[in-house]
Amino acid sequence: MISRERILRGIPVSLGFASGRVFVRPDYLFDFPETVVEPAAVAEEVERLRNAVAAARDDLQQLHERVTREMGRDFAEFISVQLAFVTDADLGEQAERFIREKTRNAEFAYSTVLKEMTGRMAGARPVLFRERAPDLFDAGARVLQHMRGDEPQSLLEAPEGSVLAARSLPPSEAALLNPDRVAGLLLETGGRTSHTAIMARAKEIPAVFGIKGMTRRVRDGQSVVVDGYRGMAVVQPTERRLRSYRDDITRYRRHRRSLSRLVDEDAVTADGRVLDLSANIEFLAEARAALDNGARGIGLFRTEYMYLARLRPPTEDEQYDTLSEVARLFDPMPVIVRTFDLGGDKVVPGYSEPNPFLGWRGLRLCFDNPEMFRDQLRAILRASAHGNVKVMFPMVSSVEELRRARLLLQQAKTELARKGTRFDENLEVGVMVETPAAAIMATRLAQDCSFLSIGSNDLTQYTLAVDRGNERVAELFDPFNPAVLQLMKQTIDAAHETGIWVGICGEFAAEPLGIMVLLGLGIDEISVAPAS
Ligand code: PEP
Ligand code: MG
Repeated sequence: MISRERILRGIPVSLGFASGRVFVRPDYLFDFPETVVEPAAVAEEVERLRNAVAAARDDLQQLHERVTREMGRDFAEFISVQLAFVTDADLGEQAERFIREKTRNAEFAYSTVLKEMTGRMAGARPVLFRERAPDLFDAGARVLQHMRGDEPQSLLEAPEGSVLAARSLPPSEAALLNPDRVAGLLLETGGRTSHTAIMARAKEIPAVFGIKGMTRRVRDGQSVVVDGYRGMAVVQPTERRLRSYRDDITRYRRHRRSLSRLVDEDAVTADGRVLDLSANIEFLAEARAALDNGARGIGLFRTEYMYLARLRPPTEDEQYDTLSEVARLFDPMPVIVRTFDLGGDKVVPGYSEPNPFLGWRGLRLCFDNPEMFRDQLRAILRASAHGNVKVMFPMVSSVEELRRARLLLQQAKTELARKGTRFDENLEVGVMVETPAAAIMATRLAQDCSFLSIGSNDLTQYTLAVDRGNERVAELFDPFNPAVLQLMKQTIDAAHETGIWVGICGEFAAEPLGIMVLLGLGIDEISVAPAS
């Protein structure tokens, strides 16, 4: 028999093997034909629109319950956002008015209004709305699918054992991947340290990115093997190939289980050097996984999703609840909370900032949104009353920026003190070294903070001028490049000369060879995804 097997090659971004059925992410970019409706049929079109909205709302309510049950409430927040958009009176009313005044078909009216609203949102100044545009689009797409009579499908409805194939996947959607359903992930775009890749690793979903033209070469339901080690997808594998991969999968699972023996061991080298081994997390659910996998603290709590998962900015109390839950869980082990690092690759396609990684990101964006930043600093301070919380600033590129951030922290302390609210007076402040400027000025920065943490993902990107999320230049993204290593060494030496400790929370710390280099350079702490 002729073999139909095809091998597609890309970049290995999340280790492991998976086999399953292709699930091509539905493409929501509909172009609906414009039809003029007779005045007598206008009421019927409005009715069709209302029915589709009601059906989409029912789906999302059910989905919300299921996600809360299966994945936890912080993931369900993403569904609440979509639910709010679908039931948004403004969107519905504008579409109805379009049908009545322009006597056009419901699909055309709704999709036109939706595109206008998404476009306005994508360019909106309040960062929150800009970030929410894809959710509006997804929510609206569900309504359109109902009108078209299609079975609405979102990532959450991927059948069990799916291998998700898509052109690209923004981090806000990657957050929704349920590893119990999605066995593997294949993308045409993206690099090893894109946030989507980081999420795939955190969820332990084997993934290969940067497979050119892939979505045109696979079809829903085809059998596929994801080889997250070699960076390839085998479509319609032969029986022989499948058998060999099944053996690999069994061996891989056995190996993972065997590692669990080491969970309670200290991280000590053969020559007696003790390393602090902490975890990077983004969601509350991951904090527990980190504990179970033996983390001795949280070295990086990425807080962006507290913001991105909601329709409105999280209140100080909401942030405080999450932070103090993690602090309590880890008490007395340290929890390092990084302030919002919004921007960069967390922008909607089509957003007009010409170069988002060099633009409005991290501290810069926080300085321009003082209320948002103040709420976060106060929440962190209040959580620090547990005694084990530390704060860390991202994307620092000058001593002045660190001073400004510290000043705002001091103001938040004064406000809390005036109200008699408890916090840790000696809250330790750390600086992420992830721009070449910060590494070059590490000695000065070290004099103004309690610890440094190397963000090797961004440090590599900015030092080598290689976009961390761009598959075309993925081969050039190399944290082992001597220029990057030189900056890491300089940072470690600067911390030690100043008498403070230095860690690393970038992905380099999860590479076996990377760890050896870092140990040689004298790193004190490494922080990696719970699965690593
Ligand atoms: C880094 O840049 O290495 C880092 C840890 O931060 P993030 O990946 O969240 O940008
Ligand atoms: Mg970074």
